Amino acid sequence: MTKRVGVIGGGQLARMMIAPASELGIEIRVLAEQDGMSAALAATATGDYRDLEMVRAFALDVDVITFDHEHVPQDVLRALIADGTAVHPGPDALQYAQDKLVMRAKLAEIGAPQPDWAGVSTREELQAFIDEHGGRAVVKTPRGGYDGKGVRVIGSADEAADWFDAFAGERILVEELVDFRRELAQQVARRPSGEMAPFPVVETVQKDGVCSEVFAPAPHASERTIEIAARIGTEIAEALGVTGMFAVELFETTDERLLVNELAMRPHNSGHWTQDGAVTSQFEQHLRAVLDLPLGAADPVAEATCMINILGGPAGIDIDERFGAAMRAQPAAKIHTYGKSARPGRKVGHINVVGDSIDDAVYVARAAAAHFE
Ligand code: ADP
Repeated sequence: MTKRVGVIGGGQLARMMIAPASELGIEIRVLAEQDGMSAALAATATGDYRDLEMVRAFALDVDVITFDHEHVPQDVLRALIADGTAVHPGPDALQYAQDKLVMRAKLAEIGAPQPDWAGVSTREELQAFIDEHGGRAVVKTPRGGYDGKGVRVIGSADEAADWFDAFAGERILVEELVDFRRELAQQVARRPSGEMAPFPVVETVQKDGVCSEVFAPAPHASERTIEIAARIGTEIAEALGVTGMFAVELFETTDERLLVNELAMRPHNSGHWTQDGAVTSQFEQHLRAVLDLPLGAADPVAEATCMINILGGPAGIDIDERFGAAMRAQPAAKIHTYGKSARPGRKVGHINVVGDSIDDAVYVARAAAAHFE
């Protein structure tokens, strides 16, 4: 019998589950925030994911509920579970991706390596942390941040004064400013029955807080780094009971330590390379994992893959024309589009190029991406 997966959220992550779903004979239903979103290629209902009755009605005729984002409130998720609905990842795991303070406390409890951090509720506490950490620190809003929004590097507590006003009574997360050599991401798929499959650790490059390029596997990573990253990913996935795709964003420090930056419990931008560069894509793997089907091989199919995100360019450019030009000029580049209108800074697609070396892959991917500048 055809399995039905209900995805809450109509963005590009839901959209990219559609192709592997049809290959596997899985039906995708989407609960989108509004009409005409990326995932509208699948059967789509439109409604508010915070509205329990809306979500309940959507969940009625699917085998499992999963997500395009991590924002569905805990009480909605817990009510679904009480109804007997399968929800993956479940609310116990998702809370650690919904609140960075809750995540930091849990990672400390399980002994995962992470930057020094504190939850502060006054300027005095924040200033004391900054003074103890060399005069600079990173402040983060615990909830609702993404793509670098809600993250600020500061040298004085005054620079977070507006946040203390806006989030009165709540704690703000402060972290040491990590001196990192580069950022890495470790992805792991985990089934409810416990089977796990880690992808190789990758290097991620962010521009203005947004992921811009991914090199997979992470170039020049030592055996030790590869092994430790996989162990960090699998140990946290198990300790938190994550089901589906799980991503751990890591800092590789200048003294070769790995520290956890943050967690994502869904397919992740750092894993888009797997669509063309791995035996099983993260989107197929996510579907297999949430349905508790055997996981696919997570091995790369080539020496190297480069992924470059395409952001909507200056107002007025014809994005479809740019996609066409990139396809014409670089037939080896795999072009992925999200069917979104092109606002500046908005992720509208990505390019994957596989190659015999990361340098070759990067060269072709950047040549294709240049058509969007
Ligand atoms: P978001 O949830 O918006 O993605 P992150 O917590 O991942 O926010 O932070 C965004 C970026 O800010 C990171 O990718 C990294 O480049 C930088 N950053 C975050 N925390 C630190 C830190 N403690 N030290 C140094 N840089 C940091």
